[in-house]
Amino acid sequence: MDWFVKKCREYGMKVTPQRTLVFEILSMLHNHPTVAAVAREVALRSPNVSFDTVNRTLQTFVDMGILHKIPATGNGLRFDTNPLPHHHVQCVRCGRIVDFESPELDSIPVPKAVSARYKVLSKMVVFETVCDECARSKQVR
Ligand SMILES: [Zn+2]
Ligand SMILES: [Zn+2]
Repeated sequence: MDWFVKKCREYGMKVTPQRTLVFEILSMLHNHPTVAAVAREVALRSPNVSFDTVNRTLQTFVDMGILHKIPATGNGLRFDTNPLPHHHVQCVRCGRIVDFESPELDSIPVPKAVSARYKVLSKMVVFETVCDECARSKQVR
């Protein structure tokens, strides 16, 4: 929490109760939640915080660099609270996303075509898979 307060100050942002609550919830959810999933948890604790506020707060955290957006197949945008460089294995059926680390993947050079035109902030590999559970249950959802 101290870390969060320090980050807000660095960014020149007020530490409001809503922002603190959203941050606390993010630190509890380690499953790459959607906006809706975060909003649901927020509503349980503080029903007067609107979906819009949650959505804007998440966007602010992304701008601050303490939260990352990850593109996901199926149910849209997800958020990642793990600040360390890592990669993802995603199940295309249930949408579950698991983190993994790989020095091999981290060391893949950025292609010239990209680095010549863009300032690269991060790189991430996503493996699209079918997880064990989904493979066992033959039904397609
Ligand atoms: Zn699955
Ligand atoms: Zn992740």
